Amino acid sequence: MSFSKFPLWETGGFSYLRRLMNSKEEIAKVPAGKNEAGSKQIVMSGIRPTGFLHLGNYFGAIRNYVRMQEDFECYFMVADLHSLTTHPDTKELKSNVHRVLAENIACGLDPDKAAFYCQSHIYETSELYLYLNMLAYIGELEKTVTFKDKVRQHPENINAGLLTYPVLQTADIILHRAKFVPVGKDQEQHLEMARNFANRFNHRYGEVFPEPVAFNYNQELVKVPSLDGSGKMSKSENQLATLFLADEDDMIRKKVMKAKTDGGPTEANSVKPDYIENIFGLMKLVSTEDVLQKFDADYNNCTIRYGDMKKQLGEDMVNFIAPIRNRVNSILQDEKYLKDVMEKGAEKARVSAQKTMKLVREAMGLTY
Ligand code: ADP
Repeated sequence: MSFSKFPLWETGGFSYLRRLMNSKEEIAKVPAGKNEAGSKQIVMSGIRPTGFLHLGNYFGAIRNYVRMQEDFECYFMVADLHSLTTHPDTKELKSNVHRVLAENIACGLDPDKAAFYCQSHIYETSELYLYLNMLAYIGELEKTVTFKDKVRQHPENINAGLLTYPVLQTADIILHRAKFVPVGKDQEQHLEMARNFANRFNHRYGEVFPEPVAFNYNQELVKVPSLDGSGKMSKSENQLATLFLADEDDMIRKKVMKAKTDGGPTEANSVKPDYIENIFGLMKLVSTEDVLQKFDADYNNCTIRYGDMKKQLGEDMVNFIAPIRNRVNSILQDEKYLKDVMEKGAEKARVSAQKTMKLVREAMGLTY
């Protein structure tokens, strides 16, 4: 069966991706994708199936997956085990896993090019997670910003899995001995921890793992802000200020129109407040250069009308999101296809995982 049965050009999403991929400046900064020995460099990343994907997931992660799958050896997973740390009820897990698969494929991820699999299907992850847990200290885990946030959000369920989330994430990454990890800015600290854990293993047992680094084609890591100017867009928090890839056109327009603005600048060329900067930032992601320049000039000479700006942004968002949403809906109809994708992905991921675990057990001396 072909895994490319939902081509992007059927929906118009392709022209947008082509525009992104053809940016000369960006391509010049792309690492070659191969190491000195000529073999492909390894890439790994994942997304939790805890709800609908949003613009932050797209621009922080999936956009890079789609580019990297062309030149790198890529492993992308649906992080279902991670989702259990905050969403222990598994009733909706299957449909959430399907949705994340479909949403990634609709954005251009090609399961024929990348290994696209479900985390729980690769048992070797749990073994490596166990060994790494012996090398992680309670103090450093308790200091993790995401752990402290989660404790605040879920005071009734502060479980050990939540505390060791960065250890499991490290296991996911280094299980494939990955070098590059395409993620958004919110993951910076976790990647630093992954480097620490990998190095600690290497120092204690011998060189097995490369140091993984967060990756965004040589640019700053991305943070797509929420529309109300507070924090980032996120699957499970602040849903009215987050633009989901599943949002209907009217919902997209409505959310954009509600974005926080003010009476406008009163002095030429003044500094933009954060919440206005955010709107310009969102425009940069989906609007043309001309549109962006027009509103920037209007801002600088104090003639900007935020109502018009948000109307334009709403239309540009609709044009960006609608083709993806339509593709997702058609992919979701085909459960057999999604199962095949996961099985094929898991087969590829297992080969790499088993190779690494052989090295790990040998390095640790667990070969008696
Ligand atoms: P969420 O926080 O929405 O539940 P995940 O934790 O599953 O998302 O993260 C999946 C990927 O999406 C990660 O690479 C993460 O860095 C990225 N990501 C999530 N939210 C944003 C955002 N607002 N801006 C940029 N990247 C983001």
